[in-house]
Amino acid sequence: MTAAHTPPARRCVSRHSGPRDGEECGARARFEIACHARPPLVVCPQHLGPALLLADGVLWPPEIALVR
Ligand SMILES: [Zn+2]
Repeated sequence: MTAAHTPPARRCVSRHSGPRDGEECGARARFEIACHARPPLVVCPQHLGPALLLADGVLWPPEIALVR
């Protein structure tokens, strides 16, 4: 097993209390939520629910992929 092809762990892009509080979560991301006309949202398990419900552009029904 080699780490040569492993990208760095992706970090959750959510904010702790809301999109405008400026404090990034930064936890290791586990899920990628497909969005309409914008890059996918990368989030940790704690922020999966809030991101699905609150983020702009989330497809419905949601399309979620696991992030390694
Ligand atoms: Zn998070």
